Amino acid sequence: MQALIDAAIEANAERAVAFLEALIRVPSTVGQEQAALEIFAREAAAVGLDVTHLPFAAGPLADPRAGVSPDPATVSPDRFQVLAVSPGEGPLHLLLNGHMDVVPADSPELWTSPPFAPERRDGRLYGRGSSDMKSGFAIGMLALRALGEVAPDLFANQRLGFIAVIEEECTGNGALRSVAEHGVTAPEVILLESTELGLLLGGVGLIWLNVKIIASASHANSADRAVNAVDLGMRLVERLRNWAAALLETEPDPAMPPGSNAYVVNLGTIKAGDWLSSSPATGTFGLRIGYPRGWGADRAETELRAVIADFVANDPDSRRSRRSRSQVSGPRATCSQKTIRSPATSPRPTKRYMARHPPVSCSAAPPMHAFT
Ligand SMILES: [Zn+2]
Repeated sequence: MQALIDAAIEANAERAVAFLEALIRVPSTVGQEQAALEIFAREAAAVGLDVTHLPFAAGPLADPRAGVSPDPATVSPDRFQVLAVSPGEGPLHLLLNGHMDVVPADSPELWTSPPFAPERRDGRLYGRGSSDMKSGFAIGMLALRALGEVAPDLFANQRLGFIAVIEEECTGNGALRSVAEHGVTAPEVILLESTELGLLLGGVGLIWLNVKIIASASHANSADRAVNAVDLGMRLVERLRNWAAALLETEPDPAMPPGSNAYVVNLGTIKAGDWLSSSPATGTFGLRIGYPRGWGADRAETELRAVIADFVANDPDSRRSRRSRSQVSGPRATCSQKTIRSPATSPRPTKRYMARHPPVSCSAAPPMHAFT
């Protein structure tokens, strides 16, 4: 049987790569995933699965676990997710899950080849979303096609589902909606993320926050005596990184491989300054911070606010400038694999994206880490 499956995979590999290339050609950033989902739907139907489009309303999900939703004005109309199931009745026994959204491809001039033009080089396929995670769709579909040829009755009594979700990169609303609104789940679920064949055994909580530093404007002539909002903000970021590093000691997670840094403080965006001859009075720092998955979003926010308040109270420049203060706002989200939400008191979440995934993963076999 193994040899037959291997042969079937080999025979269908090129088709899987072509499917992957077709997916990459569609820039399915958050809010614009529908065309790629239609490609997935056609391929799923071609391997014999029954396809259903699950409506996906624009705007935040009324669920305490919901995360950051893009501005409805920026998303394509009539969005949906796609569920493909093996023919039959009754509950699913196995569910494959993948997300079709990809992170933006800013600075395309830095790419060797255009981000949404798949290119094969040196045995690899390059293109935005090729690894995270359209290759997962290709591999899943390849496996189903091979199994369909070798063991066509495999799912006759054990129903299989394959769902393509959206809004994963902005904290995971798609999978949440598929479960909460459509009941799509199964006793066994496989997430088809790239892990170099490792098994993910744990996750981290995630929080997004915007910290606005308010300092004092100054002409460049006297900038050496001014409190620069960017300088101040960068020191705050350093302080947060020290706090996160300490968490590795005080809140170790047995799922994390030795030496890993799950609680990363990622400085994703900085908005500051008017022009080159003024010291910026304000700066907004967009951060994505990992925290222990057992905490929950409320505790993470409380802890972070305490760190920031302590910084404001004790940093010499912060104390020197009577106007200096910080405001914490913006989308927040926690994702201990499933728990995600935005507080009702936060401003409307803006369309932002995570650069990378929750970075905790642990391989069951060497190498013992497989960060995504
Ligand atoms: Zn992913």
